[in-house]
Amino acid sequence: MSERLPVFQAQHISKSFGGVHALQDVHFEIVPGEVHALLGENGAGKSTLIKIMTGVYQPDAGEMALDGAAVRFGNTREAQNAGIAAIYQEPSLFPDLDITENIFVGRQLTAGGGRVAWRQMVQEARRLLAQLGVHLDPSTKARYLSVAEQQMVEIARALSINAKILIMDEPTSSLTLAEVAELFRIVRQLRDSGTAIIFISHRLEELFELADRVTILRDGRYVGTQPLKDVTTEKLIEMMVGRTLADLFPKQNV
Ligand code: ADP
Ligand code: MG
Repeated sequence: MSERLPVFQAQHISKSFGGVHALQDVHFEIVPGEVHALLGENGAGKSTLIKIMTGVYQPDAGEMALDGAAVRFGNTREAQNAGIAAIYQEPSLFPDLDITENIFVGRQLTAGGGRVAWRQMVQEARRLLAQLGVHLDPSTKARYLSVAEQQMVEIARALSINAKILIMDEPTSSLTLAEVAELFRIVRQLRDSGTAIIFISHRLEELFELADRVTILRDGRYVGTQPLKDVTTEKLIEMMVGRTLADLFPKQNV
């Protein structure tokens, strides 16, 4: 994997909110066809890094590059146009719009004379859902979908913009076990087709099951990047909290 060139790189990223250093000199990179986990305790800076990658925030310092070329995102639209899509713990679909409308919201296809090309959009929605192996009728309104189904629609939307990088911030926290298995099937399918996936989860067993590498943040600082196959749960926890488990749980002399 490490022979592949990064599709995205961030270096020396810093971001403060008032006096709070959310990120200080943080590094991150991901290669195509990789699931890269982002790990850290609450407040470590994971969501802030993601929001910088998606143009929600602008960094105070640091550089980002896509396919080796420097980039700077003034807003979320610019990040999306560059091929970076994100799905969150709580999906953000429009409840009264149907699946097709949600996939194409803000960028409807048009036919001759500027008419909206509904039939074409429905066909495309159906094709994207089929590609993901998801059995949903594209005319279903979002309000009737489960959280897991809404995430599938957001992934279909990411596919439709040809996202090179798909970011998932705690996507499994409100899913059932069966839904998590279905999400993982789709994540692996996207990875195998070359998409770079950034996966945030507190559940270490999920990272070992799904991720190729992990980057650890602690108190807004970069701790390190490791292939999952080279680390133990114990080691990950040590990197997250900054102390060894022996320090945290000293052996009692009884
Ligand atoms: P994580 O996602 O790893 O839990 P965050 O990136 O959400 O961490 O937060 C990192 C730090 O930055 C925390 O101390 C948090 O309180 C602070 N922070 C994040 N966003 C804001 C904001 N918009 N305003 C003020 N402080 C923020
Ligand atoms: Mg967060």
